[in-house]
Amino acid sequence: MEFGWTDDQIEYRRKVKQALDELLPPDWDERYVPESYASDLQVEYSREFCAALAERGLLLPHWPARFGGSDCPDWYHFILGEEMKAAGEPRGSQYMNVNWIGPTLLKYGTSEQQARHVGGISAGNVIWCQGFSEPNAGTDLAALRTRAELAGDHYVVNGSKIWTSYARKADWCFLLVRTGPARKDVSILLVPMDSPGISVTSFPGLIKDGHLNEVFFTDVRVPVANRLGEEGQAWSIVTHALAYERVGVPRYHTGLDALDLAVERLKADGRWEADPIMRYRAGLLVAKFEAARMMTYLVVDQRVKREPPSTDANLSRVVSLEAVTEMSNFLADYLPDCLTGGDALLEDYYRINIPAGITGGTNEIQMDLVAQRGLGLPKA
Ligand SMILES: Cc1cc2nc3c(=O)[nH]c(=O)nc-3n(C[C@H](O)[C@H](O)[C@H](O)COP(=O)(O)OP(=O)(O)OC[C@H]3O[C@@H](n4cnc5c(N)ncnc54)[C@H](O)[C@@H]3O)c2cc1C
Repeated sequence: MEFGWTDDQIEYRRKVKQALDELLPPDWDERYVPESYASDLQVEYSREFCAALAERGLLLPHWPARFGGSDCPDWYHFILGEEMKAAGEPRGSQYMNVNWIGPTLLKYGTSEQQARHVGGISAGNVIWCQGFSEPNAGTDLAALRTRAELAGDHYVVNGSKIWTSYARKADWCFLLVRTGPARKDVSILLVPMDSPGISVTSFPGLIKDGHLNEVFFTDVRVPVANRLGEEGQAWSIVTHALAYERVGVPRYHTGLDALDLAVERLKADGRWEADPIMRYRAGLLVAKFEAARMMTYLVVDQRVKREPPSTDANLSRVVSLEAVTEMSNFLADYLPDCLTGGDALLEDYYRINIPAGITGGTNEIQMDLVAQRGLGLPKA
């Protein structure tokens, strides 16, 4: 097995790093990063940043050339993700456009839908949000109750979504709606966020700003032409769209950076040399993050080879989340002051990772999938 990068991939990474150096504002680390990548400030900035990346031909390496991409293997997309994550995700919400919303439109969209949306995504200046979860439909998404009723050439949507990251600044919502009584009767609508009858309310929480929003729909009229796929086809589209989405978050990158920073602090106050258990835990963390890296690379490799999604994808998330949780515990045990305003960068890491085991399918569900599909164990 070859673990090295090709010369082309190394060159692509160099160009991405160079773009980050040249494009990010000088106060990026102090002003933007602590705000979180879902904050209004950062989401707005992403329009400028992604447009500049697109101009340099770096935004969509793995997309087909006829849609603005460079026809590169998925490794390039992954290199982009690693570097962006390490830099504090200056793409804001637009990582979703590139990872799954755009590709889904390319696969399932009508030519009119593609003409309307793909140009904006590939130009790097459109914000989408994902309207899936509801107050009583998270893990059990099929319990969703937001209804879309057909009335001639449009649907009338009523209901609400919750946890909708980026909703305050989004131009469009990729919305799951119920279009019939059975659990499977769920469809996808592409909804302009400035449609009459939509309102967004944010609420506070431990996680940083921009993620915790509710979106209310009251008699919102959405043209039938904005439905993606057929009525009732949502599950097959969403399953396809998100099959690999959750693997693409290289948390080991930021985890190792945070660990370096923590060790620096612990050395500075003399505790590092004095505490062998602390050093043992730090060593274990490096091993866990590296294991997460290898698992992630394995899954990206499967994707590049067009192999069907396997439980390795779920396992890689579990390994990654275990490392992240252990890293947060390490900070809480040894540097608790950092988490209450004493150190902006470590506090940033801690807060942004609070929901790591929840977003995009909880850790328990990932383990269930590994148990049932990977190990053939009976359903609990
Ligand atoms: C920061 C953040 C951003 C988010 N952004 C978005 C977004 O942009 N768009 C969007 O649509 N959603 C978003 N979400 C919602 C996220 O997808 C849900 O929180 C997640 O799917 C879990 O659903 P829930 O919160 O309803 O928890 P629940 O489904 O109620 O789960 C609660 C607990 O019960 C466990 N559990 C539930 N069912 C089972 C089972 N069958 N077996 C074992 N354990 C089980 C879960 O693992 C969990 O520990 C976001 C969430 C967060 C925290």
